[in-house]
Amino acid sequence: MKEFKYYSPKSLNEIFKIFEAEKGETCLIAGGTDVMLEINSKKVNPDVVINLKSIDEINYIKEDNEFIRIGAGTTFTKLSSDAVILNSARALAQACSKVGSTQIRNLGTIGGNIVTGSACGDSVSALVALDAILVIQSPKGKREITLTDFYSPGQKSVCDGCYHNTPGIGKDEVLVEVYFKKAEKNEFSAFRKLGKRKALAKSILTVGMSIEFDDDKKVKNARISLGAVGKHPYRVTSAENIIDGKKLSDETIEDCLNEISNIVIANIGSRASCPFKKESVKGVAREVFASIIEQSSL
Ligand SMILES: Cc1cc2nc3c(=O)[nH]c(=O)nc-3n(C[C@H](O)[C@H](O)[C@H](O)COP(=O)(O)OP(=O)(O)OC[C@H]3O[C@@H](n4cnc5c(N)ncnc54)[C@H](O)[C@@H]3O)c2cc1C
Repeated sequence: MKEFKYYSPKSLNEIFKIFEAEKGETCLIAGGTDVMLEINSKKVNPDVVINLKSIDEINYIKEDNEFIRIGAGTTFTKLSSDAVILNSARALAQACSKVGSTQIRNLGTIGGNIVTGSACGDSVSALVALDAILVIQSPKGKREITLTDFYSPGQKSVCDGCYHNTPGIGKDEVLVEVYFKKAEKNEFSAFRKLGKRKALAKSILTVGMSIEFDDDKKVKNARISLGAVGKHPYRVTSAENIIDGKKLSDETIEDCLNEISNIVIANIGSRASCPFKKESVKGVAREVFASIIEQSSL
């Protein structure tokens, strides 16, 4: 491993001063569960490493009248057991509880999961279904971007020295917060993951869902996300449209599952994993529907 300078700042302002003072490649570390592997294997060779662990400003879960706000430095352990997340964003609590192992959940952060930008980032799949927005800060101020746009090509340039699989963050920027709307009275969310084992398993595929019902128990607003079926998790709007305005009968759900399967074929049709994923996605999504129906006691 190449020698590097190490900083453990206590505030975002301190980080921005380090960015300004240091001319070499800098690398942020939150839990280190992704990036330390890259540094140890010399795939990433930073001159300067900045540890985010002592920055309390980015470690919180808050709710106001409209939104739930999560600091980027919040760990999976905290998210999977937090009452606000369990009550109002069940999909995210379920996703965070399924990440890696206890040790990984104690260290790994939601911000690291988002910035790493892996195809199978569990919290990301849930956050796409929750229509999350990111707050990114630099010395010039704050900007906001939807999670979906964050992963679009053409975003800000990648920090060369870092392990970023996403184009969405610049060299002098820190992801500080992710937020989304609080669930409405009749809105429920759920997440399921398919992995090779129960623990320490990278997702083979993930499904996230958030569904709001009207007073007649018809779907008023649906968001469905797929993960590990493409470069980053994404919404499947044509499948959402199938259930929109309808009651969740067995027939409607089957139609939706078939459309989700078609989307898998359209996105990874040439890959060896497609025959397996196009079938298994139906079982995983069926479980997600079952969880939502159970929560809503329809
Ligand atoms: C054994 C093992 C099992 C795993 N299992 C899973 C799993 O089941 N599901 C899953 O989704 N992931 C899994 N992971 C991957 C990893 O734990 C997650 O991606 C985790 O969320 C990374 O967070 P971190 O805080 O450790 O990020 P780090 O490794 O510290 O950082 C990752 C990247 O994000 C950047 N970064 C971090 N925070 C910020 C910020 N606030 N602003 C800007 N850039 C930032 C870093 O510079 C780096 O490029 C696993 C990893 C291991 C080693």
